[in-house]
This record gives sequence, C-alpha cells and structure tokens, in this order.
Amino acid sequence: MSSRRNNIISSVREQIPALSQKMSGKPLIYLDNAATTQKPRQVLDFLSDTFVWRNANVHRAMYELSDRSTEAYEDARETVRSFLNAPFRENVIFTSGTTASINLVAYSFCKKFVGKGDVIVIEADSHHSNIVPWQLAAERVGAMVRVLPTDVLTGSGRSGALDLESLDSLLTPEVRILALTQISNITGLNNPVGKIIAAAHAKGIPVLVDGAQGIVHSKVDVRKMDCDFYAFSAHKIYGATGVGVLYGKKEYLEAMPPYMGGGDMVETVTYQKTTYAPLPLKFEAGTPNFTGAAALKPAIEFAQWLATGETAQALKQEEEDIKSFMTDYLTSDRGIELYGTPSSSARGVGLDVKAPIFTFNIKSINAGDLAQLLDKMGVAVRSGLMCAEPLLNSFGATSALRASFAPYNTLEEAKIFTECLERARAMLF
Ligand code: PLP
Repeated sequence: MSSRRNNIISSVREQIPALSQKMSGKPLIYLDNAATTQKPRQVLDFLSDTFVWRNANVHRAMYELSDRSTEAYEDARETVRSFLNAPFRENVIFTSGTTASINLVAYSFCKKFVGKGDVIVIEADSHHSNIVPWQLAAERVGAMVRVLPTDVLTGSGRSGALDLESLDSLLTPEVRILALTQISNITGLNNPVGKIIAAAHAKGIPVLVDGAQGIVHSKVDVRKMDCDFYAFSAHKIYGATGVGVLYGKKEYLEAMPPYMGGGDMVETVTYQKTTYAPLPLKFEAGTPNFTGAAALKPAIEFAQWLATGETAQALKQEEEDIKSFMTDYLTSDRGIELYGTPSSSARGVGLDVKAPIFTFNIKSINAGDLAQLLDKMGVAVRSGLMCAEPLLNSFGATSALRASFAPYNTLEEAKIFTECLERARAMLF
C-alpha cells in the first residue's frame, strides 16, 4: 500500500476515538459495522455541545435556547434533504430508525391504499424490519405478502442475488406496494433497485427502499433512483442511535394518515376532532430525538468527507483490496461457505456489486463459538441470524458469522481477522 494511502486512512481513523481502544488487551478490530458504526469526534463533540448549549425542546417555545435547538434540528433536516437530493424539506421525516420508518409506511400507506385481497411484495433477502411490518399491515387490512425470490430459492443459483426473471409475473394488478432492500445485510449484494423501480412504476406500483446498508456503501440520489420512499438509520452512518429518516414523495405522504398521535403533529385539537400539522410534522408526534437528529448534520458531513477527493480515492482502493482479499480467502477453502457471491459462476467477478459485508460459515464449527474466541483476540464480529432468518435458512444455515467493514477499516485488519479466524478454527476443530 502506498504511504500516501496509508496516511490518509490513518488520518480518517484518528477522527474516531473508539478505534484506538483495546479489547482483551489487543487492539480492537471492529468488524460489526453493518450493525452500527463507530462515531467520529465531530459527531461526539456536536452531541456534547448540543446537550450543553442547545438543549431545549424544539418547535414549542418563545425563548432563545429553544430557537437554537429548533434551528439545529431543522438544519439537520436540510442536510439530509440535500444529501439525498430530495426536492423539499417536507419529504424528510425524522423517525427513530429504519425500522420505525418502514413501520410508518407499512401502517399509514396500507391504511390508505391497501385493502382486502391486495398484495404487498417484499424481497427474500430482506432484514426482518422489511418483512414483519408488512406482515402486520397485511394482517390488519386483509392483504397478502408475496416474496421476490433469490436464485437460491428458485434453484437457479447459489449467489443470493434476486431472481429478476420472477419480477414481472409477481407484479400483478393486485400489487399495491413493493418493498425493496438496497444492499442486503447478509450478502452485501447491491440490488439493481433502479431497474426494479422502473419495472414497478411501469405498472403503477410505488416502491419503498430499505437503505439501512445502502446509505453507507453507495451514493444515494432519491430523485435519480425515483423511489417513492427511502428509509435509513443515523447510527449506521456515523450518527446517533435512536434516529432515522424516512424520505417520501409528497403525493403519498400528504395522502397518508398519521402514524402516531400526540404533540407537535397537530394543527388544532378539540375533544371531538383533530386536524393535523402539515408535513413533515404530521409524522413526528411527541418530542423527537432532537439532540440525535441534529447530530445527523456532522455525521453526514463526515460521510461526505469520506466520499470526496483524495480521501474517497484512498478509501475506495483500500475497500477494493479488502473485498478481493476477503472473497479470495472465503471462496478458496471448501470448508467455508460464503453467503452472497457476486457471481455464482466465477469467483471474484462482479465485486463492484458487493459491499464489504461477508457472512459465512465454517463447516462443523458453531459461529457463536468462533465469535467468542475472536472477541478474546480483539476482533468484534457478529454471529447468529443477523435479523434475516428466512434468508439464512434459504442458504441452509441456522446461524452464521458476519464480518462487515466500514470505510475506516483496513486491509491489515482484514488480514489479522483471517489469521485470528484460522487460530480460532484450529482450537475448535
Ligand atoms: N434493514 C437492514 C438492511 C439492516 O441492515 C438493518 C439493521 O441492521 C435494518 C433494516 C434495521 O435498522 P435499525 O435497527 O437501525 O432500525
């Protein structure tokens, strides 16, 4: 690796205090970024400053401290709007996370637009939060949930990619909404959402995109993508926990009934009837997480810095090296099964459609045991079902190990991880 690249990556890592700590006496190698990312100093400082200098409830008071808080909250909304290239601030709703954003749409959209005998289409590679809310909604309104399969389910391959040939026949006239996943939290595969959205729109079907992983690993432009809804969580993109975003087209958000009732989402209230506040507040009942939401501004600025100029180039090259190294390691050993290979036929081909998320099993070894041993070596990886039980089951797995890399991870860390994994494997075999 060039020393210039090395220096750039070091300067990024220096911004993130958590990365320099030790676990079990070893330098932490944090590879659970698909679950949550570590926070840069500018987000930590902003949060701390907010609690000291801007801590007052938003939108409600006539004093300066509340004005400052409201300004920071609405500033973050503008930052999100511009980051997503959404046309209006009214398109951006603050929620508590991707899960809450999807639940909001599943409840309100289905209440207004979905009825008995209608169909909701979801994807086989979805996280539970893009499955269960639709099942609940379908139950409430008497609709059915249909699943767009992967090649594993149709028996046409083992890559974990969506079987797009099934799409046309699934999108029948009863389909009212299609819920997509931009990047799977298991396979890391980047789904062709643009193509799928175009196919759905050709039949008048609106589309929600779960961007929980996509927001981190791709440049998102909701106007170009032309999705009708886009959901993501702040904590996965260097921001605070308990904050999420729902982008929605105004035509839908305006027609949809509120999801929750309470303060701030009303215009007038009598004991008999309530009229609702205009967007976006109609969907932001109660005191929002105004401190966390405001911190989306420095979090997004950090993400933008990582994606700009020389920094972006260095991180991209490092990520490509990590992906090649990890794919080679995980596919050259017959005792390892990797879930989500870009191409079912040729190893290493099409890595451009895979985010650096690697979920796999080592034959005859329990993933949880491996994760525990790795922890003792300073390596943090996730094991279990990763909230995608149907997808993992379709691969024939009941649990797995997942190493998910962020732009601040290094090839050196990937190498140490695989060495530690081999040591843990030898201990358990
Ligand atoms: N969707 C995907 C693809 C995810 O990876 C996750 C979290 O891992 C979620 C949804 C849920 O995100 P949150 O728990 O932040 O609401």
